[in-house]
Amino acid sequence: VAEKHYLLTPGPTPIPPQVATAMAAPMIHHRGADFRALLQRCLQRLREVFRTEQDVLVFTSSGTGAMESAVSNLGTRDGRVLVVSAGHFGERWAAIAGAYGCEVEHLRYAWGENPSPDDLASRLAELGGETVVLLTQSETSTGVVADVQALAAACRGTGSVAVVDAISSLGAVPLEVDEWGIDVAVSGSQKALMTPPGLALVSVSQAAWRRREQGDLPRFYFDWERTRKAQERPLPAFTPAVSLVAGLDVALGLLLEKGLDAAFEHHARLGRACREGVKAMGLELFSPDDDRSAVVTAIRAPDGVESGEIVAKLRERFGITIAGGQGELRDKIFRIGHIGYIDVFDVSAALAGLEVALADAGADIERGVAASRALETYAQRTPV
Ligand SMILES: *Cc1c(COP(=O)(O)O)cnc(C)c1O
Repeated sequence: VAEKHYLLTPGPTPIPPQVATAMAAPMIHHRGADFRALLQRCLQRLREVFRTEQDVLVFTSSGTGAMESAVSNLGTRDGRVLVVSAGHFGERWAAIAGAYGCEVEHLRYAWGENPSPDDLASRLAELGGETVVLLTQSETSTGVVADVQALAAACRGTGSVAVVDAISSLGAVPLEVDEWGIDVAVSGSQKALMTPPGLALVSVSQAAWRRREQGDLPRFYFDWERTRKAQERPLPAFTPAVSLVAGLDVALGLLLEKGLDAAFEHHARLGRACREGVKAMGLELFSPDDDRSAVVTAIRAPDGVESGEIVAKLRERFGITIAGGQGELRDKIFRIGHIGYIDVFDVSAALAGLEVALADAGADIERGVAASRALETYAQRTPV
């Protein structure tokens, strides 16, 4: 069993040592002045990362809790929501809204497709607008990054609120919450934000607050209003995950110190490096060969190879963890996550390991080229 570990899944992701150190500090009380100062700074940094002037609410849960909060605060009994989906996480929106008894309208694409703003505009026109539109920016199950700027624009003027799952994309690819008119963006700590799992984040626009007033679904822990009031003081409504907040604060500081644009460029170059390495090996991409795809690279498993087996071998032999496919793509694809605290040497290690594991499984691949092609590609600073 390998001792050194490489974590290249689309969450959780590796954490910088400074984040780990901050999280190991002695416990402080969440009502004391020290935690309140920490929370206030962290909330300010979150606004900068979301690129919003609005409140960003912090809950202790995985990212799905933030998604659920959007449904329970914005939805109404027997009211309609419109889910736009093209993969596993889009389907999750439908499952949550269904569980709350909403009437789910679905603009559903095949897994791997990219939702079209025109289709959304016509569906909204058919429905007469006034709905809650549930979107996914980075569909982590397929590697497709949707154009949520255009999708949110299609919602404008229809009286609808645009809700975006930015769980795997926030901090990796551009998301301009205020400028693009995104009413609600949800995210989590464990992807590009370089923090362990456990914090869910939600930005809420004025229109979304007004919409919430009409909501009549049950909500308690995830009631946005309760948390907003608490954060204003700031005196947490419930015991927060104190150590995670300390870690997130440091991680956001690292991200903002270099600047978001530098992070976006880094991710775009990592995506390009990964794709070029994959193609050099002779493998076929599942995710688009396009710079938007800077979160996860999805690769088709060669004929006769089950991706799940290779993923398990990679971990056992080399300590390299990548992901297989989810749902209908199980065993059909590999997914290399390159978000957050990842550099091109991590990506090269994953490609080199994949190459060995596939060759051992008898796949017909080109050996000895993927890692160097990835390094070369990353070194080319094509502007994004
Ligand atoms: C990871 C992820 C989620 C789920 O987040 P959890 O933290 O596991 O609840 C939801 N949506 C997308 C797009 C994701 O990548």
